[in-house]
Amino acid sequence: TDPALIRNFCIIAHIDHGKSTLADRMLQITGVVEDRQMRAQYLDRMDIERERGITIKSQAVRIPFTALDDRTYTLNLIDTPGHVDFTYEVSRSLAACEGAILLVDAAQGIEAQTLANLYMALDNDLTIIPVLNKIDLPAAQPEKYAEELAGIIGCEPSDVLKVSAKTGEGVEDLLNEIVTQMTPPVGDADAPARAMIFDSVYDTYRGVVTYVRVIDGKLSPRERIQMMSTRASHEILEIGVSSPEPTKCGGLGVGEVGYIITGVKDVRQSKVGDTITALNRPATDMLEGYQEPKPMVFSGLYPIEGTDYPVLRDALEKLQLNDASLVFEPETSAALGFGFRCGFLGLLHLEITRARLEREFNLDLISTAPNVIYRVDMEDGTEHVVTNPSEFPAGKIASIYEPVVKATVLSPSEFIGQIMELCQDRRGELHGMDYLSEDRVEMRYTLPMAEIVFDFFDHLKSRTKGYASLDYEPKGEVAADLVKVDILLQGEPVDAFSAIVHKEKSYAYGVAMTKKLRELIPRQQFEVPVQAAIGARVIARENIRAIRKDVLAKCYGGDISRKRKLLEKQKEGKKRMKMVGRVEVPQEAFISALSTD
Ligand code: GDP
Ligand code: MG
Repeated sequence: TDPALIRNFCIIAHIDHGKSTLADRMLQITGVVEDRQMRAQYLDRMDIERERGITIKSQAVRIPFTALDDRTYTLNLIDTPGHVDFTYEVSRSLAACEGAILLVDAAQGIEAQTLANLYMALDNDLTIIPVLNKIDLPAAQPEKYAEELAGIIGCEPSDVLKVSAKTGEGVEDLLNEIVTQMTPPVGDADAPARAMIFDSVYDTYRGVVTYVRVIDGKLSPRERIQMMSTRASHEILEIGVSSPEPTKCGGLGVGEVGYIITGVKDVRQSKVGDTITALNRPATDMLEGYQEPKPMVFSGLYPIEGTDYPVLRDALEKLQLNDASLVFEPETSAALGFGFRCGFLGLLHLEITRARLEREFNLDLISTAPNVIYRVDMEDGTEHVVTNPSEFPAGKIASIYEPVVKATVLSPSEFIGQIMELCQDRRGELHGMDYLSEDRVEMRYTLPMAEIVFDFFDHLKSRTKGYASLDYEPKGEVAADLVKVDILLQGEPVDAFSAIVHKEKSYAYGVAMTKKLRELIPRQQFEVPVQAAIGARVIARENIRAIRKDVLAKCYGGDISRKRKLLEKQKEGKKRMKMVGRVEVPQEAFISALSTD
């Protein structure tokens, strides 16, 4: 294809503002997907994406479009995910485009995620087309929000397009604007081949499918290619485009977007951000890559049935074929048995991974309370990186560092007070505040990641009646006054409950956990103290009183068969007991204590 007839673009939007629906309409209007095959969110392929209504993996699709000038263009749409956990997926999609549609719900206005993505698009020098969606809604205020959008990107309110992805109104105009406003890709067709990998997906039948955008030169079937970062070489077994089903083609030239299959079995062999070149005529310079996604949140995952451990290991390995951001290593817990310490991009990533493990591999899992990464400097000069609180180093500590984020909150201005209160409570530091319009405000904070990744968003939503939105990005680490709190049963620490918390919150954590465990753990034949401690210092204590646990005493006299049944039942129950020192704890108690309230 002549690069002059190509437009590569993506849609950036806050979650729920209608990206997937707009993509659906584009596919339908241009006849890429026939009406009878159309289903909502056509590009969101994974079941979990469909159920939760979110896009996790980015997908590229080729859309042929005959514009007002009667020429047929190739539009390559790269869908992007809309959740902070997956920001790195957005940034790689942006790098493969010349333009971006900034899509905003005409009944909601701009949200934090929209802004974050807009800044990313501007950083990548993309042409931005501002679009208001859902103008069919009675609550839509297109005039008001056109002004807000224009103010932020520096255009006229009349430049803001208005569409309904649902009814299709305005979508054809938008396609024409993409052709006229966005620039075609520029590259050197005669130079050595360079293609950027912007996605890499494992497919059970085809192996790894690598999505690329060609910058210079050409990639052809049967050609030997080289990954520039690792120098590994492979043969292109298949090359094609998604339209939207995979369709083989004779090669990809300058500006074209498509996929290649080389037979590699693991997405880490075909790394997102890497540059592909031709082995017989390699390029000298790599394209600028992306930052590798780093796990931010860690949690122990354990099978509820101990015998499922090998299944869990296989399942994690399979998921990793497709998810380079998932990391794990074996771990043992006195309370929970054999499992894995896993690293995730954020809580949603954790939840989705866990849901996929349970659903696709039929596992019942328990996960420990998620934690961030801490760095500990000891007085003897050694340094420890802690991803599991129970492995917190013993000895004299010089300082502890915790990761922080730069957070942006957007909200109607009437909630400023509530937001400040919440952020203060979470040890936040306000850096600035700007009015986007007379009644909407943007607030910028530095917050400890540990305070934000868990329930911060829920609290923010409930304090602002659902109106505030949040975006954040990692911003290094700072020293903090943190302590490790252990929970002990009869003097024995229960590893799964150790937590690293801010000193000021350690007492509250200790009291809450000891109370919870006292209620959940059945009485034993002896009294069991439940304590919370920092080092050797006990900060909270509860007692589980003793009973004489003689089940047989309940069956007066002779009924032997009933006695047998009771004994059987007790044996059954024993299997699921974990011993912590001398204390027998039903696994259910751990499970309930670890599940969030
Ligand atoms: P995404 O999260 O940005 O991909 O948003 P979706 O495309 O999944 O849309 C979120 C919700 O908004 C869905 O319930 C859509 O049906 C609805 N929606 C999307 N576009 C429109 C529109 O133009 N009008 C109306 N009324 N609803 C829309
Ligand atoms: Mg979507």
